[in-house]
Amino acid sequence: MTSSAPKKPAGRGSVRLPRGAGARAPQVLLALEHLYPDARTELEFSTPFELLVATVLSAQATDVSVNAATPALFEQYPDAQAMSQASAEDIEPFIRRIGLYRGKARNLAALARLMIERHGGEVPNDFEDVVALPGAGRKTANVVLSNAYGYPAIAVDTHVGRLARRLGLSTQTNPDKVELDLQKLFPRERWIFLHHALILHGRRVCMARNPQCAVCEMAAFCPKVGVEG
Ligand code: SF4
Repeated sequence: MTSSAPKKPAGRGSVRLPRGAGARAPQVLLALEHLYPDARTELEFSTPFELLVATVLSAQATDVSVNAATPALFEQYPDAQAMSQASAEDIEPFIRRIGLYRGKARNLAALARLMIERHGGEVPNDFEDVVALPGAGRKTANVVLSNAYGYPAIAVDTHVGRLARRLGLSTQTNPDKVELDLQKLFPRERWIFLHHALILHGRRVCMARNPQCAVCEMAAFCPKVGVEG
């Protein structure tokens, strides 16, 4: 098994950061550190395998719905070896309340088999190897590698992308390019924290609809790009 840190998105250096982003980034980081000093993933897991499965399940679903389903799922299938024996139909009843569960059940069954075939049942610690697993994309790889193995990474989901644009840290809509902008603006050792803290702020204050700018600690310096009113 090879080992490498997450790969950078293609096109590095081709994107201009928004005006003032460099000065704003430290203010954002300071505010987030004040607001969410213990920011971490809200997915519940106890092994890299559980984290990988929970992250695959969390695509277009809430962490709450995933956390409600995974205890029984992990009891039945505690590792890749156990899950590799299951069919998608075996897995479906455990995740039926999670969005897109049929496709996710298919991916989990295939993912576990591939982990056995290629990685001895272990979650790979190489970015390209994780991305190659069924149901896992760049975001999943970043989440798994950062939370399970401590690699510096900024997974860009819908919250992180939205906040990056509103806060004037990126003008990009492509998550890979947002990731690139954030990597330029923040110290590497704070990337994992930044990912979690932006998600928390996106859930609690800067929601997609009706962001709470009136009570937001970042209102004084946030350009509120795209926010109406
Ligand atoms: S000021 Fe408004 S737009 Fe800016 S981060 Fe806060 S809630 Fe979001």
